[in-house]
Amino acid sequence: MSRTNNRSLTSLMALACSLALGACATTAPPPVDVVIKGGTVYDGSEDAPFTGDVAIAGDRIAYVGPPKSFAAKRVIEAGGMIVAPGFIDPHTHADIFLRSDDPAERVNAAWLAQGASTVVIGVDGGGTPDVAEDARKLAASGIGTNVVPFVGFGAVRSRVLGDAARAPDEAELARMKDMVAGAMCAGATGFSTGLFYAPQSFATTEEVIALAREAGSRGGLYDTHQRDESSYTIGLMDSSREAIRIGEEAGAPVHFAHIKALGVDVQGKAPELIALIDAARARGVDVTADQYPWLASGSSLDASLLPRWAVDGGGQALLARLGEPKTAARIRSEMEENLRRRGGAKSLLLTAPGRPWTGRTLAEYAAAQGTDPVDTALAIIAQVVREGGSGTEVASFNMAPEDVELLMQQPWVVTSSDGSLGHPRMFATYPEKYRTYVRERGTIDLARFIRQSTGQVADIYRIAERGYLKRGYFADVLVFDPAKFAPRATYLDPRELSVGVEALFVNGRSAVEHSHITGEAAGRVLLRPQPENCP
Ligand SMILES: [Zn+2]
Repeated sequence: MSRTNNRSLTSLMALACSLALGACATTAPPPVDVVIKGGTVYDGSEDAPFTGDVAIAGDRIAYVGPPKSFAAKRVIEAGGMIVAPGFIDPHTHADIFLRSDDPAERVNAAWLAQGASTVVIGVDGGGTPDVAEDARKLAASGIGTNVVPFVGFGAVRSRVLGDAARAPDEAELARMKDMVAGAMCAGATGFSTGLFYAPQSFATTEEVIALAREAGSRGGLYDTHQRDESSYTIGLMDSSREAIRIGEEAGAPVHFAHIKALGVDVQGKAPELIALIDAARARGVDVTADQYPWLASGSSLDASLLPRWAVDGGGQALLARLGEPKTAARIRSEMEENLRRRGGAKSLLLTAPGRPWTGRTLAEYAAAQGTDPVDTALAIIAQVVREGGSGTEVASFNMAPEDVELLMQQPWVVTSSDGSLGHPRMFATYPEKYRTYVRERGTIDLARFIRQSTGQVADIYRIAERGYLKRGYFADVLVFDPAKFAPRATYLDPRELSVGVEALFVNGRSAVEHSHITGEAAGRVLLRPQPENCP
């Protein structure tokens, strides 16, 4: 855990040198642990890149600037390479690895191999309110990336109300507020919600405002997987208005998680969404968003097509309902509607490993079977239910490329992975964005790509002394080869590590060398300093 603002010994020595009016300048070159020589340096700010050196001493950056000589234990010749701050991923489900029993998984290789040194967790309302205890455990267990925790609405609400679909009474609301306040005082970066998900979806806007205020009054962010990214309930635009209102009335900066227009009913709405957010920003509301650079979300045939009531009681209950002709007809007609909303059977790629349908779209597989897509989907679901286990996974191509690119170009949008199993975004978000949107399509330039993956994220989340290559800052430093930086993961093979990271340092320790994970567990839990209004 790091809450300190200590300057490193090196910085103190440098200060002593300058106080001695250049007395040090004529002596031997200053000792450092690592010098990265001659790379093209993007420091995380909006400044133009330059060719120069970056030196690391201990866990801090000792030097950033034009070529200079050092007495270094290790020299990295970085000519032709890009040198940048380690990427900071603001929306992840990296807990899968960070909380593993296996120390090798806790190194969090999926992120390290794509250049990310810090991940934000507890998103979508999932973050535990026990921030201090959780931070202690994570730090003691040995993790490979830094971690920034949110306290989550889902975790708080279910602790007080269970899964109840009702409003809290006064005492219950007070307990929830105390939990959020306690988590903020323990160092959480803000309050996250996933209003799309039950039981969070049962909350009124006012309930969320009351809790977000506990974060806002302590300098925290309101981060939301909003109530509707599509046309399921209140619709994308009203849902976005709700998110802005919550932040505005709670006095908290608003951050949209994985911003998108999901499904055919809202595709093409990016300009309207951008206008709404620009208007809020113009009247002084601090609104930002993150985005993953993929056209598909990860889902399953069940989750994306079946109505919720049809699976109430589990798989066997579903099979029983399908045995009743009237109920089965109702299920089929609701599935037709959900399939339409998601862009039809051609938009669902079947990705479960090792199945006869793997690698084909639902449309292709249905055609091969000579059945219609809904019947085909039901046959797959029924087979998987009978066998137990999994097999219904899909990549759901539900975003329009024009929306994705337009959102990516907004000055208030930063890069995230939303990394979760079964989708290549967990292992390949940064190189995919670089390859497709910087190199191939030119949607954004390299400077913008780096800025929105580093310093700008640190600014939004108020992550101190990271996100920039600056003397005295923590040494989270990335060196990648612009010719080799590339994803390996695909929708059908989503767990392949990315390549092209020449070096990645996390708190000054070497986490990646020549695309190879060293096994160092140098990550820390980054807690905010305690706000003033705490007990
Ligand atoms: Zn989410």
